[in-house]
Amino acid sequence: MTDSIAEPWSMDHRLHVLNQIESRLGPADTEGVRWMERRLTGKVIAVCSCGLNTGLVDRGQMRPAEELAAEHSPSL
Ligand SMILES: [Zn+2]
Repeated sequence: MTDSIAEPWSMDHRLHVLNQIESRLGPADTEGVRWMERRLTGKVIAVCSCGLNTGLVDRGQMRPAEELAAEHSPSL
């Protein structure tokens, strides 16, 4: 019986690019019902379980998720 050789651990990556959203209660409609309104602020943030955090940036300045993934993790 031989001892198995443990493989080295490697970091997992779970990259997410999230839109920042704000909301407010809208005015009453003709039925008196008030709906929640939501809109994008135009800011986005990219975070990964490995610790990557770009901070909030303007949507137009965020690099594509595929590019971010490839850049910070060669295993993705
Ligand atoms: Zn990562």
